[in-house]
Amino acid sequence: RAKAAGRNRFVLFDDAMQHTAMGVLDLEQALRDALLNDEFMPYFQPLVRLTDGAIVGYEALLRWNHPQHGVLLPGDFLKVAEESGLIEAIDWRMFRLAMECSRDLIRDNVYVTLNVSPRLFQMEGFDRRLLELAADSGFDPAHLRLEVTEGTLLVDPEAMVAVLQRLREASIEAVLDDFGTGYSSLGHVHRFPLKMIKIDRSFVSPFTAGVSPRSSAVIEAILALGRSLAIEIVAEGIETEYQREVLMAMGCEYGQGYLFAQPQPAAHWLAGG
Ligand code: C2E
Ligand code: MG
Ligand code: MG
Ligand code: MG
Repeated sequence: RAKAAGRNRFVLFDDAMQHTAMGVLDLEQALRDALLNDEFMPYFQPLVRLTDGAIVGYEALLRWNHPQHGVLLPGDFLKVAEESGLIEAIDWRMFRLAMECSRDLIRDNVYVTLNVSPRLFQMEGFDRRLLELAADSGFDPAHLRLEVTEGTLLVDPEAMVAVLQRLREASIEAVLDDFGTGYSSLGHVHRFPLKMIKIDRSFVSPFTAGVSPRSSAVIEAILALGRSLAIEIVAEGIETEYQREVLMAMGCEYGQGYLFAQPQPAAHWLAGG
């Protein structure tokens, strides 16, 4: 995580602090203030085609631009945001900003993905409200993809299939994020209308020269599933050229990670990266 934000980043609330009563109450209040003061903002990290590095999309990642402590990562505050219910308001704010900021990034088939918290995705009327927001923000929903996790989908699979189908009819595609970490249920995937699956970073990072990690069997299985269901596969957290080459050789088409680019404000990408 330190690597993600540079060397001297200040950690305001570490995991331990998020568990102490004072830490939680202070952080909740600070999150409310941050909403009022408009301190949340999106960064964007490219998704690339592994063969030539071409940018195929951007993932919008939540950042908290804290007036004293600088840019804070979701790991510093997401848990408290979720447990307090504030994540709902934060996500809507984030989605609006992400669509407004990235309107001019989308061209051809380039898309932008949004990470949706489980409780928001499961909420009645979520898909309708998202479409209204896209219209308000002047963002073509055909260029929007939603990242959800297995945990989000498996709470009430039938209801979630219906939501995904309605979204697809409105031309918003779904991405299964962090695949392999949760219920690791290859067998569930065919039930959901998915455009893309992201292989979790924990399966990619064990790959170093001279090592053949056990995670390669999982990756092979996910790639085979992707081929048979016509679902695009992205490998997360690619940090080395070696990892890019191994994944490409295995037949993985897309990737994301520090090897290609760090998350950056939209202006960075609008200026040509
Ligand atoms: P995620 O959706 O799996 O996003 C990928 C995370 O991995 C991001 O961390 C990204 O900066 C980081 N990453 C990208 N490439 C590499 C790499 O090569 N190596 C390593 N070590 N890390 C890499 P980030 O931005 O701190 O976000 C953490 C998590 O917070 C996200 O995981 C997602 O679950 C959640 N999140 C982010 N934005 C939002 C949002 O707007 N709403 C909600 N509800 N959750 C969000
Ligand atoms: Mg994601
Ligand atoms: Mg992910
Ligand atoms: Mg992840």
